[in-house]
Amino acid sequence: MARLAQTAGLTDIQQEILSTVRNFVDKEIIPVATELEHRDEYPTQIVEGLKELGLFGLMIPEEYGGLGESLLTYALCVEEIARGWMSVSGIINTHFIVAYMLKQHGTQEQKDTFLPRMALGEVRGAFSMSEPALGSDVSAISSKGVRDGDEYVLNGQKMWLTNGGTSTLVAVLCRSDEGHPEGTAPHKSMTTFLVEKEAGFGEVRPGLTIPGKIDKMGYKGVDTTELIMDGLRIPANRVLGGATGRGFYQMMDGVEVGRVNVAARGCGVAQRAFELGVSYAQQRHTFGKPIAQHQAIQFKLAEMATKVEAAHAMMVNAARKKDSGERNDLEAGMAKYLASEYCKEVVEDAFRIHGGYGFSKEYEIERLYREAPMLLIGEGTAEIQKMIIGRRLLEEYRFQG
Ligand SMILES: Cc1cc2nc3c(=O)[nH]c(=O)nc-3n(C[C@H](O)[C@H](O)[C@H](O)COP(=O)(O)OP(=O)(O)OC[C@H]3O[C@@H](n4cnc5c(N)ncnc54)[C@H](O)[C@@H]3O)c2cc1C
Repeated sequence: MARLAQTAGLTDIQQEILSTVRNFVDKEIIPVATELEHRDEYPTQIVEGLKELGLFGLMIPEEYGGLGESLLTYALCVEEIARGWMSVSGIINTHFIVAYMLKQHGTQEQKDTFLPRMALGEVRGAFSMSEPALGSDVSAISSKGVRDGDEYVLNGQKMWLTNGGTSTLVAVLCRSDEGHPEGTAPHKSMTTFLVEKEAGFGEVRPGLTIPGKIDKMGYKGVDTTELIMDGLRIPANRVLGGATGRGFYQMMDGVEVGRVNVAARGCGVAQRAFELGVSYAQQRHTFGKPIAQHQAIQFKLAEMATKVEAAHAMMVNAARKKDSGERNDLEAGMAKYLASEYCKEVVEDAFRIHGGYGFSKEYEIERLYREAPMLLIGEGTAEIQKMIIGRRLLEEYRFQG
């Protein structure tokens, strides 16, 4: 299966990391993924393996104990992991976003405190923007942080925290009016608070409750939760970057790298669906020959493989652009949009190739069929990606007449 989704120009180190991760995925993830997913069971043993491989610190700089690798290396690892089981890529994704936000925007004290333990996977990150009444419209956030001496008091309800129960450090976006008078643009009066907590459910620290896992149609195994803040007191030195009013930009920066990551997940799930489809098509016989010998099925395989290649190329391009220090919101938006749509289509084609068996829980494609839709929503829906892409295109191609 090595023909598709190859990446030219990788260093020896990148190739070695990827082959180690692929090996781990084939041996430790694929054989157990569907069973654990059906039981909605957290993959503790797999997570321990990821820690040993150093994956929680892949992009954290070496001075903090990480591997200091690029976004491209990270995205290619995520692609491999999602090929095995998308939920596992979800476990490292929010961690990676929080570590990235700390690296880019944290004070020196915040970096020194959290990054070394995050690199080891001892502190695990989640990020929280969404609320029950909003996801796309981040400017409408109503959770609030109000200064009280050397602390902030946080109140509000958050929704859809991936790793909400298992994480111990949550980057929470709240409105904070301090220094920002009434009438300030909504995105200029938001602050990211670094909230430390115990892992688990219930009241995990005074004023902070994680009620329990949301029961999802797919993407099981990884916990997704609500978060309720009721007079939660946070020391003032836990404002990300040390100053209020920058939270919106910090979160958008994190989500931008997160989008490359979601694109990579779409690539990985689509690759696995192709592998399953092409294999089944050569084993199942109808009308006296393998279904792969019917032109209609070959056309499906051709379309699926073309989509796998195209999505991979766009994802790699978006990651490389960010790694070169350039703005990549256009490329990341396009890659996320295309990879998630193609992923859904490739999975659906692989499902159809399986005929009735695709509907049975005994076949892996059933799990992929329930996983793919999450990619259409997380880190910004298709409509939101198209809004970002459209705006950027109008900037680039401004009418000069
Ligand atoms: C499994 C899962 C895990 C998640 N994990 C996290 C997490 O870790 N942290 C976090 O903060 N959030 C997380 N989310 C939340 C996710 O980011 C939001 O669900 C997503 O941004 C969409 O927001 P919404 O659900 O409120 O939909 P809405 O914003 O209500 O949108 C509903 C529909 O309207 C469309 N729409 C909205 N505005 C416009 C517009 N201006 N023009 C055209 N169409 C529009 C949308 O595209 C969508 O089709 C997660 C969600 C899921 C399902």
